[in-house]
Amino acid sequence: MFDVIVIGVGGHGSSSIYHLAKNGLNVLGIEQFEQIHNNGSSHGLSRIISLTTRVHPTYVPLIRRSFELWRELEVEYNKQILYMTGCIYIGSEDSPIFKDCVEIAIEHDLEHEIMDASEIMNKFPGFNLPSHFYGIFTKEGGFITPEESIKAHTKLASNYGATINYNEEVLSWEDKESHIEVISDKNIYKCKKLVITAGAWNTEMFNIPNSPLSVQRQVVGWFPSEDKNIFKKENFPVWILDGGTNEGYGFPEYGFDGMKFGIFNDTDENVDPNTYSKDINSEDIKLLTDFTKYFAKTNEGENFSTCLFTNTPDGHWILDKHPDSENCIIVSCCSGHGFKFAPIIGEIVTELCQKDSSSYDTELFKISRFKN
Ligand SMILES: Cc1cc2nc3c(=O)[nH]c(=O)nc-3n(C[C@H](O)[C@H](O)[C@H](O)COP(=O)(O)OP(=O)(O)OC[C@H]3O[C@@H](n4cnc5c(N)ncnc54)[C@H](O)[C@@H]3O)c2cc1C
Repeated sequence: MFDVIVIGVGGHGSSSIYHLAKNGLNVLGIEQFEQIHNNGSSHGLSRIISLTTRVHPTYVPLIRRSFELWRELEVEYNKQILYMTGCIYIGSEDSPIFKDCVEIAIEHDLEHEIMDASEIMNKFPGFNLPSHFYGIFTKEGGFITPEESIKAHTKLASNYGATINYNEEVLSWEDKESHIEVISDKNIYKCKKLVITAGAWNTEMFNIPNSPLSVQRQVVGWFPSEDKNIFKKENFPVWILDGGTNEGYGFPEYGFDGMKFGIFNDTDENVDPNTYSKDINSEDIKLLTDFTKYFAKTNEGENFSTCLFTNTPDGHWILDKHPDSENCIIVSCCSGHGFKFAPIIGEIVTELCQKDSSSYDTELFKISRFKN
């Protein structure tokens, strides 16, 4: 019997397995694909991390701890995972992106600098902004490489004794009261605690009536520029920008030529993670190209790819016990802003498995807020 089985070894499953194994638990992780794949939510070479947030004050202590844990992970893994470039939230003076971020930064005494459009463009010549735009910049921001994070967490977890099975699909699980039974396409396992970090497949694995989760297809691409220097890490931050009709986000050059860029595709769609289209169509390209041409000095985009958001109706996570099983922890920490918190999510999951409660405030993440 395993102490804990973790279903899904992506961004959050891998960090959970690492923290559980490091704390002495006998853990099995089961992943339906290879260690690194492009079917879920944790690929594409970079994810924004920033001390300033516009989302909710609950995330402030979590991001502080995440920065510490990312740095500890880099030391233990002996490889860079976190690149500090600074982060800027941009919009008109009354845009929620800008306003909310300033409010939270002031309230929580987070290091920040307010800049107008010309100051932003002087400091970061890659931008091309309307004159009425403002930005809130923090040096305490940058990006994490999701693939390296998964490799680091799984490698170190294995060193601590965790077992990780790839190319094995969990079909179902059942709380038998004395233990939980997990049935995969290869085996039947028993565990004392079950952790579900199945990302875009969470609806299926949580098996809760009227699931509040929906899965959205997102597209990103790389946009080079005439001036090869303007998007280099030394000259360009990570950013989130309210363009009026759309919100976009971007990264300095890493992996491919140019700025990586995406738009929050905020629609009511709910795609099936097993069948959604990974093909890039002309509408995808037009949406991204139209946005960049207004706000950044880019040429045509290239290297487009898709990825999945798993959203809740209020944009906050689910990190809680399963409503029908005390011994099952359900983790759906996406809504487009979950990767940066991977290490603290692993730490909280471990607390919930070991002590039944967390030392962090997780009230915001309760599943009971969604009424059936
Ligand atoms: C385009 C894009 C941009 C983003 N940008 C940012 C950002 O800048 N900053 C940020 O913090 N966050 C960002 N996010 C969000 C972040 O990437 C996600 O919150 C995070 O990757 C979610 O990790 P996860 O572990 O829930 O999902 P995943 O990493 O997808 O892991 C779930 C795993 O479970 C496996 N699985 C599912 N079902 C089964 C089963 N039955 N049996 C076995 N295995 C199973 C899947 O194969 C998968 O590997 C972004 C997301 C996208 C898509």
